[in-house]
Amino acid sequence: MAAKKNSILVASPLIACNSVCAALKERGLPYDSVWLQIGHFIRNLDGVSCLSHEQQTLVKESFEEYLKLVSNKDKAQVESLGRDFLDEVDKLKKSGTARALKEEQDFNAQLLDAIGKNLHQLAAIISKADACGMIDTIKADTLKSIKSATSRNQILHIVEESFTELNEKAKTTQEKMELSMESLLVLESNAIIDKLTGIFNRRFFDQELPKIVQTYLDKKGRVPFSLMLLDIDRFKEINDTHGHFIGDRAQQKVAAIVQNNCRAGIDSPIRLGGDEFALFLIGTNEKNGLKKGETIRMEISKKPMTFMQRETDGDPHNVSITVEVSIGVCELDIAWKDIAAGDLNRHAIFCKPPDDDPMYKLTCMLAEGADQALYEAKEMGRNQVRAFRGD
Ligand code: GH3
Ligand code: MG
Repeated sequence: MAAKKNSILVASPLIACNSVCAALKERGLPYDSVWLQIGHFIRNLDGVSCLSHEQQTLVKESFEEYLKLVSNKDKAQVESLGRDFLDEVDKLKKSGTARALKEEQDFNAQLLDAIGKNLHQLAAIISKADACGMIDTIKADTLKSIKSATSRNQILHIVEESFTELNEKAKTTQEKMELSMESLLVLESNAIIDKLTGIFNRRFFDQELPKIVQTYLDKKGRVPFSLMLLDIDRFKEINDTHGHFIGDRAQQKVAAIVQNNCRAGIDSPIRLGGDEFALFLIGTNEKNGLKKGETIRMEISKKPMTFMQRETDGDPHNVSITVEVSIGVCELDIAWKDIAAGDLNRHAIFCKPPDDDPMYKLTCMLAEGADQALYEAKEMGRNQVRAFRGD
């Protein structure tokens, strides 16, 4: 310590040009290490951030008081005065550092509180009470650690651990959400799938046909669209003769043949209800719709369908039934959009949206057209395919 003091003392004349040394000299103060420290400290006082403004003023005032005492004192007394002054400054600095540290802790606590509140809201939006509870725990633990911690590393470590835990929780929540999403999709697909046959149902028909018509209206280079309606001939007889169980199996076979004649991802096979089916044929005109109808009709009727009959009072045995269908095909015609809505049959499949909506008019005309063609096929003797004739 003494060596250091000496070295400063030795160096001091060399740095006499330094403004601090000059000020010391001017006031008749020694150039020793103590007074050099005081001199530098006073000069830098305005920049010492750990002292408050009041503390800085106090230091400056007490320095002036010490200066008064310095005059008429011998060298040893002046040095001891300098040491006293430095001791007091040290105490102040320590209280300043402690204050700064406390301010930092308070700030960190407030910051964490603000982050916690936001996370809380986020958790409330994302999900469940357990995630909110988790954040409360993290907040409480971290606040505790900030208050008791003396090192930033310790605080960081605790916060990091808490966030890792929260991250794990978030992952689990996300997985749960994905699972719920999957079950939602299953629910949604159940809503548009017919239970008996596994093809689309009436809800899908009602929902999708207007959309197809709208797309047709919106498109500049229109692709044709045909709607096919299919009804099993004298299905009541099948039910009456062989029972509803066989009737159901027959419907499943008809549905499978309709589905097998669909282009995957383009055409949509639908069971409208009872023994009535529909087929959306995107990109298909009337001529090709009739061809497809003929293919389906032939395939259904070309050979008897065989079913296993299980009767309570006898052995199971096979029954063969010839199933026939009538089919109506109608191609969507853009010219129909100008037909007055009032002219349309109010009892058609679609009912009562706004009268002047072209999509509504076209959808009604299409459904009615296919229905009329099917009716004609029945009237002409069944087991045949007919196209809509608009006259
Ligand atoms: P048509 O040639 O004029 O169509 O005569 P049809 O006997 O087929 O007459 P219709 O189409 O009106 O009869 C449909 C029958 O389908 C009436 C009903 O008992 C029966 N049905 C409706 N839903 C089901 C079902 O889910 N399963 C079974 N097995 N039968 C059904
Ligand atoms: Mg029928």
